[in-house]
Amino acid sequence: MSDAMSTRPGRRETKASVAPFYALTPFTMLDFPGQTACILWIAGCNMRCGYCHNPQIVLGKGTIGEDQVLEFLGKRRGLLDGVVFSGGEATTWPGLARFMAQIKQLGFAIKLDTNGLRPDVVKRLLDQDLLDRVALDYKAPRALFRKVTTVTAFNRFKQTLTLLCAQSEVPVEVRTTVHTDLLGEQDVLAMAHDLASRGYEGTFAIQQAITGKDCPTLGNLPENRRAIDQTRLAAQSPITLEFR
Ligand code: SF4
Repeated sequence: MSDAMSTRPGRRETKASVAPFYALTPFTMLDFPGQTACILWIAGCNMRCGYCHNPQIVLGKGTIGEDQVLEFLGKRRGLLDGVVFSGGEATTWPGLARFMAQIKQLGFAIKLDTNGLRPDVVKRLLDQDLLDRVALDYKAPRALFRKVTTVTAFNRFKQTLTLLCAQSEVPVEVRTTVHTDLLGEQDVLAMAHDLASRGYEGTFAIQQAITGKDCPTLGNLPENRRAIDQTRLAAQSPITLEFR
């Protein structure tokens, strides 16, 4: 999943009989670094983060089928470099590896946005050389994982983190969304230290959750009133932070 850090999806397109995709964003230069890409928003998620900006994708059904996406991509060969699989949570879709293989055969690079709850799926995708980049959400330290995500599955997330940190072929970006009712500076630093201890050398991206009555979210969280202390975090983090 995707999460609140990704571009919001555009309009839904026409229906198909088998429809894993809630929406297709035809063009982005922001979500796949160095690549022009489209975004596939897969319906459904195995978390329920209170700050989630995409409840319609998490709780809704897909309306775009595989054939429609393949037709779209057939017309974009040479125009787009890559495809971002986002959601919702892309790894909850049983057809993911098979469909990614079809996309690769068309010549597109693939980026996966994931919340890390399916280490088995991520391993399979890595083993099959289907991934060119991964963005992994580090939702919270173990003690707060359930509070942030509503699921008790930190060990599964940890397996994915370990898997991704143990390989160097596929670039990985770890990112966290912070609502200061849920996470504080100490929690962000705890995650940064965990990443450093694993030898993670990428950037740790921190984004503050945008919530409140003008920005409805899955958990109807109150407005994120207190800004995280970026100066303190930058001074004390053992790895490079990027504030978005
Ligand atoms: S519920 Fe959480 S993991 Fe799922 S799409 Fe929303 S922010 Fe991402």
